[in-house]
Amino acid sequence: MEIYGISNHNGNKGNGKEVGEDKMNIEILGEEDFKHYKAIRDGYFVIIDTTRRLIHTTGCSDVNISSFRVKVLENTGKNGRYYFTDDLVEGRETFRAEKCKNCRPK
Ligand SMILES: [Zn+2]
Repeated sequence: MEIYGISNHNGNKGNGKEVGEDKMNIEILGEEDFKHYKAIRDGYFVIIDTTRRLIHTTGCSDVNISSFRVKVLENTGKNGRYYFTDDLVEGRETFRAEKCKNCRPK
């Protein structure tokens, strides 16, 4: 696992695996959050909408600001919610999300 490009809440910049309780499941509520987390390479977006739950790499083309604006900002989250997680397994279990077939997170 690579070193994170940002420091998280406790200031730890280690490789994550040593910090057992330091799980991130963060709801993305604004454009600034979206841009911030989209720029993190070692992370995943969980997108929950009315029909399905998918987990994506942050680099996936399905994770884009225009969809975010429509689903979250214009509809005040009624049609979709976005979460960031730094752990694929945890993210899948927490949200019961399927892996996106475009970006195939692993
Ligand atoms: Zn994807």
